[in-house]
Amino acid sequence: MFSREERQQALETTRVTIRACTRCRLHASRTNAVPGEGSVVAFILLVGEAPGRDEDASGRPFVGRAGRILDAALEAARLPRDSVFITNVVKCRPPKNRRPKSDELATCRAYLMGQIACIRPRVIVTLGATALRGVLGPGHELKASRRRVLHLGGIRVVATYHPAAVLYNRRLERVFRSDLEKVARSVARGAATRAGPSGRRPSRGRAAKR
Ligand code: SF4
Repeated sequence: MFSREERQQALETTRVTIRACTRCRLHASRTNAVPGEGSVVAFILLVGEAPGRDEDASGRPFVGRAGRILDAALEAARLPRDSVFITNVVKCRPPKNRRPKSDELATCRAYLMGQIACIRPRVIVTLGATALRGVLGPGHELKASRRRVLHLGGIRVVATYHPAAVLYNRRLERVFRSDLEKVARSVARGAATRAGPSGRRPSRGRAAKR
């Protein structure tokens, strides 16, 4: 069992490695690699496809227009951004925002798996079809997966839309928000159950020792 400090250190080592990574062709055209950000003791890990232009420029995940959609949905679900961890399956921006290629997904996946091992989230939320396949592998379709109970090594996986899809089809916003709200409720229920019959929830200190 690793301590919070050891997990934080491992997450930081992964971040530094990603920033300098040249393992696939995407390093050649990036401005900044985008490792992701958030809490090492986050119960919820959100995984998108890849950085876009704003993320490439800033080195931070989901800071452009799609990021504002995500922020609004997190706020509606009462999930402060710093209480979750947000990243992508591919950490460098593909040229002209094209879809990541399968070899790029496969090469970069090791970093995501390392982050999952450090954070040990209760739920992984995949944002869009590429993130879903990047996390669970090829053959997973978003439409079918949204209604199924999915797992990765014992961690529940919830598949929902990418916030950029909501930008282009505002009718998806209600569904997207509802998906995040359900995740927030299920995580809160889990915390309450673990608190025992007294109904007392784990303190931040207890949560921090996960
Ligand atoms: S996309 Fe991933 S594997 Fe490719 S250079 Fe960036 S960090 Fe490295």
